[in-house]
Amino acid sequence: MIYLDYAATAPLSPTAIDAMAGAARGWANPSSVHAPGRAARAALEEARGAIGAALGFHGSVILTSGGTEALGIALRQARAAVRMVSASEHAAVLGQAPGAAVIPVNADGQVRLDRLEAMLGEADGPALVAVMHANNETGTVQPLPEVIRLTRARGGLVLADCVQSAGKLPLPDADLIAVSAHKLGGPAGAGALLVRDPACLQPAPPAGGQERGFRPGTENWLGAIGFAAAAQARAADTGWTERAAGLREAIEAAAVAAGGEVIAAHAPRLPTIACLRLPGVDAMLQLMQLDLAGFAVSAGAACSSGKVKGSHVLRAMGLGAEAAGEAIRVSVGWNTTAAECDAFGRAYGDMARAMLRKAA
Ligand code: PLP
Repeated sequence: MIYLDYAATAPLSPTAIDAMAGAARGWANPSSVHAPGRAARAALEEARGAIGAALGFHGSVILTSGGTEALGIALRQARAAVRMVSASEHAAVLGQAPGAAVIPVNADGQVRLDRLEAMLGEADGPALVAVMHANNETGTVQPLPEVIRLTRARGGLVLADCVQSAGKLPLPDADLIAVSAHKLGGPAGAGALLVRDPACLQPAPPAGGQERGFRPGTENWLGAIGFAAAAQARAADTGWTERAAGLREAIEAAAVAAGGEVIAAHAPRLPTIACLRLPGVDAMLQLMQLDLAGFAVSAGAACSSGKVKGSHVLRAMGLGAEAAGEAIRVSVGWNTTAAECDAFGRAYGDMARAMLRKAA
């Protein structure tokens, strides 16, 4: 099986496996005062610092159980009067921001800055504006410097979901940033909320008091160590994102040659995600054919149940329900080879010819 679904999750990097295996030989609760507890605390704090440094972030790192929890903390606990979210946010934002005002996106999936400016102007107080750095279905990169400028001019805060972009693009200068280990070669179940100024967050309701009161519960120190090692491996592998962009372009060229379309082709995009539509062919049929041919790719967002749902992201970009149901996501990562992408290009061509013949 050739794995081209890195946007869903990436394989554990050998560096992360080694770091976690080494750390797992000793264990203790980092809050314990005995010597093993103090050693676990030291290892946890070292991992915290390494995560920030590897991602190029200077500020507070609140360790969480992943991107979803980091986003939830920001959405619930940020000191703001109103909440705004872009229409193309991940379900981890949309589902945790009930009642938030929705900022529309354009045909490339980029947030409409004119609409954001108008919404900020009409808001009843400072806003928390959640705009993701890069979209998980299309790879579209958002104009975050402009979003940040407009929001700060009105006294608001910006929450950037950087779950897909961390380790691939320099992080934006947002007030709150959510990241996740398993998208860059670390373990699932570890992530962080990066906070420029902790004063912008209210503490969580009283509980264990860990993570400076912002995220109670015994810390996943093993996960943090794996996260740090994976982030360091990405930072040390200079040039991997250029390699990934070349692979993505090869995949897109093969798809276009076979009758496919690249969604948001001319927008700034992540080097690792290609969203490919094959007009007239249901995404589920494409996935099944590619799966039989030995390729693991996905349709839209891989949701928790493994079912394929109509993509709210593509609908928000103006695609009709049918067209939105004809797009698949192919995503490469740190371990993907040119030979795998060539093989995918051939398999996509075979699949497209067979499907289009059937549809005719
Ligand atoms: N945000 C985006 C853009 C994602 O792609 C994902 C994961 O699919 C998440 C948030 C959720 O992250 P986690 O799986 O670490 O909870």
